[in-house]
Amino acid sequence: TQLVNQIAAGEVVERPASVVKELVENCFDAGASQIHLDIEQGGLRQIRIRDNGCGIFKEDLGLALSRHATSKISSLADLEQVLSMGFRGEALPSISSVARLSLISRTADAACAWKVSADGSETELDPQPDPHPPGTTVDVRDLFYNTPARRKFLKTEKTEFAHIEALIQKLALSRFDVGFVLQHNQKEVLNFKPAADDAARLKRVAGVCGPQFVENAVTIDFSASGLELSGWVGLPTFSRSQPDMQFFYVNGRLIKDRLVAHAIKQAYQDVLYHGRHPVFVLYLNLDPALVDVNAHPAKLEVRFREGRMVHDFLFQALHRSLAAQRPEAAGPELKIVDF
Ligand code: ADP
Ligand code: MG
Repeated sequence: TQLVNQIAAGEVVERPASVVKELVENCFDAGASQIHLDIEQGGLRQIRIRDNGCGIFKEDLGLALSRHATSKISSLADLEQVLSMGFRGEALPSISSVARLSLISRTADAACAWKVSADGSETELDPQPDPHPPGTTVDVRDLFYNTPARRKFLKTEKTEFAHIEALIQKLALSRFDVGFVLQHNQKEVLNFKPAADDAARLKRVAGVCGPQFVENAVTIDFSASGLELSGWVGLPTFSRSQPDMQFFYVNGRLIKDRLVAHAIKQAYQDVLYHGRHPVFVLYLNLDPALVDVNAHPAKLEVRFREGRMVHDFLFQALHRSLAAQRPEAAGPELKIVDF
């Protein structure tokens, strides 16, 4: 079991930021509206994430850490199956196989919180009472302490934290309704309040992309044929490197896709800036049946069922929105094709 968990962990727990991603997604799943992250030494020393979500029942706490307790590898096929499942139901056991993990949780109507813990060798699955408020804290210490080969692949504390910060920015732009506080070595690095209206959302975007992005941004809000595109497209007038400033979400999930990149770039360069990299925070919503999200949790890939249609929609949506709001930039050659 230990070995299986470590192998599964090797697949997906690549670095501290991958642990953070799994844990924050669990907070989302728990319906949390506030997430607090305490990171020490780039996440190598500690990753502690507290939420105010639904919590875990005392009797389910041990289960959350030991889902594989009874499974055995009897054949290569079994092993491959475990690997291909990736983190489905495996995040906490996998993380606890390569770190010291404790899980403290309290449901809304429980009299107190309960704590279990596990590290590579020992587990304390008999819940102990704890004075934690309703919600959950997952505390991950000494990541890869028992897998030195993997630890060697990590970069400096600073680089590992930069990955975590970039991840929280991406996640924060996918859930404006959730508040995030990120601390590194006891210092507050990000603090995003839950954002209910446009002004508050823009403030959060400014926190991620910088105030200049927001000042000059063109607002996008376009729908046709059941597809909806909203968000902001910016002018490339600031110094931060451009590829950092491309956020594209499909049904709430950040993705990278060539087709999408191509459509955006075409519209952007056509109307606004020839030869410039587009900068944007965009949200595409469409019927989930029209998109396949890659099963591998670490990849940001999707496959659109109607790729051509999605491409043309994006091009049209951006072309029209940009041309309408920046007619001076559009130039005489602007042609709008009917979508
Ligand atoms: P998965 O998310 O795929 O179910 P995980 O290993 O990430 O698997 O989590 C195991 C289980 O622990 C979850 O199904 C959930 O019941 C519980 N859990 C984990 N984190 C939280 C959290 N922050 N709040 C409430 N429940 C949680
Ligand atoms: Mg999970």
